[in-house]
Amino acid sequence: MHTMDNLQTFSYTTTIICGLLLWIFEGVVPFFSGRKSREKHAAVNLSIALINLLILLPSGLLMALVLQESKTVWAGVKALAVPAYVQTILVILLVDLWMYMWHRLNHEVDFLWRFHSVHHSDPSLDVTTAWRFHYVEIIFSELLRFPVFILIGAGIEDLLLYSMLMTPVIEFHHSNVSIPSSADRLLRAVIPSPLMHRIHHSVIRSEHDSNYGSMLSFWDRLFGSFIVKPDIRHMAIGLRGESSPVQQRIGALLVRPFHH
Ligand SMILES: [Zn+2]
Ligand SMILES: [Zn+2]
Repeated sequence: MHTMDNLQTFSYTTTIICGLLLWIFEGVVPFFSGRKSREKHAAVNLSIALINLLILLPSGLLMALVLQESKTVWAGVKALAVPAYVQTILVILLVDLWMYMWHRLNHEVDFLWRFHSVHHSDPSLDVTTAWRFHYVEIIFSELLRFPVFILIGAGIEDLLLYSMLMTPVIEFHHSNVSIPSSADRLLRAVIPSPLMHRIHHSVIRSEHDSNYGSMLSFWDRLFGSFIVKPDIRHMAIGLRGESSPVQQRIGALLVRPFHH
């Protein structure tokens, strides 16, 4: 339990430090310039994120217990006769594949899109958008994780390691930090880069129905959902008819999925 607590603390610390650094860099070298009231925008997104924490914290504790119990019945990947580090790598790859599939489902199933669209309607994509999800999406995502992670045979320490690696990637590709296009090209060989994820937040459906990856860009290449285009400087971000200031208030965002 001791190393797990350390992993957990380290994971939270990394998330906060990466988030803060990216927030500072967004102010210094922004990709989309001319953004006003960044603080107000962050306050809205982080308030929505805070609600999710009330679901995620108890769910994480329950997950630790469930995975501990279930491994005596079904070992999944842990039953393979390969070294422990290979098992860990396989678990991480399978969890990232599930993240890809789940994200894609959120776009392809209309009922799920109602909730996921709250993440997409943000017209000022930045590091705080990485945490802005409707709580119903979080509930569904957590519920499905139990059977999926049991089936994979993931241990809670694998999941902590995954979240420690994946979270900074998610924060980075949502951020409004400007990086050289050559660096973006290099990065997207491995991870979904800022350019890839900005296209994922385009108002155009064929563009936002692409680049679903969380930690690895490989799945998008494999399943044919990988898109890049050279110049996105003037690309509109958000969702048509969903991104006005009135629609971007906390209350409006929370009730929006129920009003379709
Ligand atoms: Zn999406
Ligand atoms: Zn996103």
